Amino acid sequence: MEKKELAYKRTYVWDKLNADERKDVMEMGEDYKAFLNEGKTERRCAAEIIRRAEAAGFECICSKSSLKAGDKVYYNNRGKAVMLAIIGEEPIENGMNIVGSHIDSPRLDIKQNPVYEAGGTVLLKTHYYGGIKKYQWTALPLAIYGVIVKANGEKVEIAVGDGADDPVFYITDLLPHLAKDQMSKNLAEGIEGENLNVLTGSLPVDDTEASDRFKTALLNILNERYGIEEEDFVSAELEVVPAGKARDVGFDRGLIAAHGHDDRVCSYASLAAMLKVEKPARTAVGLYVDKEEIGSVGATGMHSQFFINMVGEIIALMNGGNCPDLAIRRALAHSTLLSADVAAAFDPNYPSVGDNANFAGIGQGIAMVKYTGSRGKSGANDASAELVGKVRKLFNDHNVVYQTSELGKVDQGGGGTIAYILANNDMDVIDAGVAMLSMHAPWEIVSKADVYMTNRAYYEFLVNYR
Ligand code: MN
Ligand code: MN
Repeated sequence: MEKKELAYKRTYVWDKLNADERKDVMEMGEDYKAFLNEGKTERRCAAEIIRRAEAAGFECICSKSSLKAGDKVYYNNRGKAVMLAIIGEEPIENGMNIVGSHIDSPRLDIKQNPVYEAGGTVLLKTHYYGGIKKYQWTALPLAIYGVIVKANGEKVEIAVGDGADDPVFYITDLLPHLAKDQMSKNLAEGIEGENLNVLTGSLPVDDTEASDRFKTALLNILNERYGIEEEDFVSAELEVVPAGKARDVGFDRGLIAAHGHDDRVCSYASLAAMLKVEKPARTAVGLYVDKEEIGSVGATGMHSQFFINMVGEIIALMNGGNCPDLAIRRALAHSTLLSADVAAAFDPNYPSVGDNANFAGIGQGIAMVKYTGSRGKSGANDASAELVGKVRKLFNDHNVVYQTSELGKVDQGGGGTIAYILANNDMDVIDAGVAMLSMHAPWEIVSKADVYMTNRAYYEFLVNYR
């Protein structure tokens, strides 16, 4: 009799793939990098999701007068969050299979009154967004993306720093020679938030007697190029992100460095899965939400009612315009959500922060996170053993390489995702996503094999989970 291996072992995705699948990993890596390069902010990412969805046959739900099984629709929430849905054969009250990710990432936002000049330069003041290590954002090339709504209501789009001939922007840091006081501070205080001012110009207007010659020169350029004046910054959303495209990392090209893997890597894996789903039994939903990095707040964050409203709209469109409240509640309560967010991976430079038996690793497949939270699981969704058991079986039955993950050692720190928010609708929820290195750094790292395997996991969940 063959002896069964009883011990649970870590598995590497690469070891489980045949030659064709390994090629697919690399091809998907190229497509993922293109997705990242198009969508360096939540607005641009939402636009790219909708562009790809439309190309795959999704229509705006706003254009529909009825819905039936097999229909593919999207909802665009203010250009910052997107819902994709493929109507299932079963009544939606039986529940949906939902993959929910976020498309906002840590960055620097330009303030409402940002422009000032000093020392022969002109700068823009910023307020950081999400959990950043401020010292990481100095002395590197930066790009500016966003929108400016002018006094007449016209919206101007800004995208500077990633075009082949574009200039970049920059936040200065102190030279080591004069950094005695700075270097004696801790990392959290070495660079202060009010010092994250972005260099945007250095050439004055010709009138040497004029005041604010550098600021005036910048305002002149912005007026010529975009037709804006200083007050227009009040109604602008401009985001500063690292300049440059996503790049392969390593001689073997197995990893990708990019800004915003958290959480566009899960958004990409989920989108690519949704675009392949045809005629699912249960209604398949892909959620791509905003504001996760600052608490899932606002109309475009997961705490917003927009998703629940859209479930109501879908029910009404399938039901001659009628939508009983109980139908929405049943649809939500019978649904299951894979909360698709990134997990921290074991970092060989910092081996002491995790319990390594319970820490995700690079290249070891989709990371299932039963609970997040901190200090005694506080704030965690904590998926049930029954749910973990079903998802684990689904993954094992469909050759999905998975691992489990916990965010570091007990009491080392912690974090959260959108999981608990949707769970409040009486819904089964588990976190499952890509393990990554240098989370929330200007450039983060993921493994192409993990992107591929996470895409497979989401697809199998959307199509076969019940
Ligand atoms: Mn995240
Ligand atoms: Mn995050």
